[in-house]
Amino acid sequence: MPQPKSPEARSETIWFDGDQVAWEDARVHVLSHALHYGSSIFEGIRCYKGDKGGAVFRLREHIERFFFSARVLRMDMDKLYTQEQLERACVTTIEQNGLEECYIRPLAFRGAGAMGVLPKDCPTHVSIAVWPWGAYLGADGLRNGIDVAVSSYNKFAPNTFFALAKIGGAYVMGSLAKIEAVRHGYAEGILLDTEGRVAEGTGENIFAVLDGRLITPPLGHSVLGGITRKSLMIMAKEDGIEVVEQTMSREMLYMAEELFFTGTAAEVTPIRSVDGIPVGKGGAGPITLALQDRFFAAVRGQDPRHADWLTPVSPAVVAAE
Ligand code: PMP
Repeated sequence: MPQPKSPEARSETIWFDGDQVAWEDARVHVLSHALHYGSSIFEGIRCYKGDKGGAVFRLREHIERFFFSARVLRMDMDKLYTQEQLERACVTTIEQNGLEECYIRPLAFRGAGAMGVLPKDCPTHVSIAVWPWGAYLGADGLRNGIDVAVSSYNKFAPNTFFALAKIGGAYVMGSLAKIEAVRHGYAEGILLDTEGRVAEGTGENIFAVLDGRLITPPLGHSVLGGITRKSLMIMAKEDGIEVVEQTMSREMLYMAEELFFTGTAAEVTPIRSVDGIPVGKGGAGPITLALQDRFFAAVRGQDPRHADWLTPVSPAVVAAE
């Protein structure tokens, strides 16, 4: 079976239904319900190498959201595992693969049962893959900002699908928006909701600096409750920055002094232009860069105020066994 092409996107083992299996053996049946109807849920988590070794950022919150997504999809994952068991499985998989810095992808999906939309006799499968993964929107983008465009795709309305859960099928639209953005030479697309309000990127929340205040669309406006978003809001308030969850119209993207994306994959990525219009003076703004510094200090264990956001991993322990 063809393997993922990127040589970095590999590790030795993947946790699959309770066992560590070889990377190439983590296979699924073609009649899996999730392949036909998008019935999967997932998480994206990062582990960072800090002064005291590797540590997973906000593992508890991510696994909590994983279980929330399962509940929304009426998937019985909680009958199979506790949150603590899956947190442990994430840590063990990182250690097993000898990694200190990596991306972690828990996935739960409906497997093969009776064919049809009704998931009858479809077992729930759970996997956790880990691999080294650099800056999602590019190392240069992290420093200097990225060029983005408003997407021609709208984020689904609250009464049509669930934005607060990470459900596989929902990402078909996000994937189309990302393809469109890249095809037009942009790093990412910004999705407006069906009322024309700013929602988020295809895998990122968005923040604007306007009159020195930090503004982000509220939950309920077709956005994911990002864990990076929440962490940044806490750190901004600690720095005395006023943070407001507020409806954002498209032109606010053009008015903003600064704009940035947050996300586990994207981390804190400055946006330097929208639809070809420079944001502020163009490039990464000072508040964005200060918050980016705060973020990287926290994930690398250099911020004692948020030591409890980190779960240590000890690959050396496994390697020595
Ligand atoms: N919005 C969407 C649609 C996402 O997929 C993600 C990535 N999980 C985010 C926002 C950012 O969320 P987080 O900070 O929890 O990674």
